[in-house]
Amino acid sequence: MMNKKANILVIGAGASGLMAAAAASAAGASVTVLEQNEKAGKKIYITGKGRCNLTNDCATSDFFDHVVTNPKFLYHCIHAFDHEAVKTFFAQAGCPVKTERGERVFPVSDHASDVTKALTRTIQAQGGRILTGRTCRHLQMENGKITGIRFNDGSFLAGDAVILCTGGRSYSSTGSDGSGYLLAQEAGHTVIPQEPSLVPFITKENWPTRLPGLSLPNVAVSVWPLPRSVSDRPCPDSSADGRKQKKRRDRAVYEGFGEMLFTQQGVSGPLALTASTRVSFRDHPEGYRLMLNLKPAVPAEELIARVCMLLREAPDKSFIHAAAPLFPARLGRELILAAGLDPDLPAREVQEGDRRRFALYLQAIPLTIVRTGGFPEAVVTRGGVSVKEINPSTMESKLVKGLYFAGEIIDVDAVTGGFNLQIAWSTGHTAGLSAAQNSGEE
Ligand SMILES: Cc1cc2nc3c(=O)[nH]c(=O)nc-3n(C[C@H](O)[C@H](O)[C@H](O)COP(=O)(O)OP(=O)(O)OC[C@H]3O[C@@H](n4cnc5c(N)ncnc54)[C@H](O)[C@@H]3O)c2cc1C
Repeated sequence: MMNKKANILVIGAGASGLMAAAAASAAGASVTVLEQNEKAGKKIYITGKGRCNLTNDCATSDFFDHVVTNPKFLYHCIHAFDHEAVKTFFAQAGCPVKTERGERVFPVSDHASDVTKALTRTIQAQGGRILTGRTCRHLQMENGKITGIRFNDGSFLAGDAVILCTGGRSYSSTGSDGSGYLLAQEAGHTVIPQEPSLVPFITKENWPTRLPGLSLPNVAVSVWPLPRSVSDRPCPDSSADGRKQKKRRDRAVYEGFGEMLFTQQGVSGPLALTASTRVSFRDHPEGYRLMLNLKPAVPAEELIARVCMLLREAPDKSFIHAAAPLFPARLGRELILAAGLDPDLPAREVQEGDRRRFALYLQAIPLTIVRTGGFPEAVVTRGGVSVKEINPSTMESKLVKGLYFAGEIIDVDAVTGGFNLQIAWSTGHTAGLSAAQNSGEE
């Protein structure tokens, strides 16, 4: 119960911070948002290729299947402010939404800027302030309770509660430079080491890089940790731990079906991005093997028969021309070369064994993932403030009274489809409401 108007400071005017400020000001608190950029919502502008895929219309119970890290932590806040609540919120704030393929929800206007405008308008109409060009450097605490924040110029701003919404490390040009983790650590919080996620792969093989922009729909991939190099391997390793590690390397970390894209450095697209959520170069610095299957729906023997038939039917054509119906035109030459064969050889001269080998190759094209695009190209950050030290019903710190967390700074992340923004809205809403309700008591 509030006796006096709670004075709430929100650090970061991204998705989670703006929603926290909207919820807190709607609940009657006096709210100030502090943002280091020159404008609010800089990352929102680039989401969904400028259209902002702001949530996903799947059933709330299915939502958690799309969360990669710590889905259980999110149960309370997602149920308290789910995708329906988000759609209603934005419609009432003057930004009606529509649902597209894959249950992805976008503003009707197709402008991400309308999402930010809806939030800032709501906050300001409810008496909240958004101050830009303000970088928070320290949290001020006394006797285990937050008292305010200190800026990079040394000035101090008092508050009954502080909501830390500084985002992760990805696309740091949008302001999420990781400085929030230092603030959390200052308050005694454990911060799980971060890794880029939803990020393109860089391959050792050069041939994919010669096909930038080529998209392959309806393919399957599996991703496997590479064995440690012989020199790194503590040998012989027959301990239980060693056996466990070997077993892990013998198992695919990801298997999926969908669309993959070649890039100037390797592979990307929905399949590769989703696969990256299961890849950790901290756990497996030696890298990963990606197996690409161009014909996942065709049994191997059937594919062999098809390749043999195509080459038999056009004996005078070159291999690449005879086999053309099997793959997109741009891919053919690189693929045949990568399989160790000659694309210009007349079809009749391609040996029986090579025909068979090529057919099998189409279902198991090996690529070596040596790196990812890193934080500059990552859609989200994996890792962050440990959920063990945050109350999932309120988003309040279990260590410091009056300190709250929301958004990507927390150790939660999801796949693409509007799920990461839904996490930002739900955690932000819960944090803002709880801070307003629990602060300002005499
Ligand atoms: C290219 C791209 C496309 C994406 N598209 C989608 C999509 O369509 N759908 C989806 O669900 N998700 C998408 N995401 C992910 C989603 O945008 C993020 O998960 C979400 O924006 C995180 O919100 P946040 O509020 O936690 O952090 P942010 O949006 O990163 O906001 C953090 C804010 O805090 C400020 N800040 C940081 N430190 C300080 C400090 N010390 N003092 C003051 N201010 C500070 C920053 O300047 C920043 O404005 C996309 C991400 C990227 C990079």
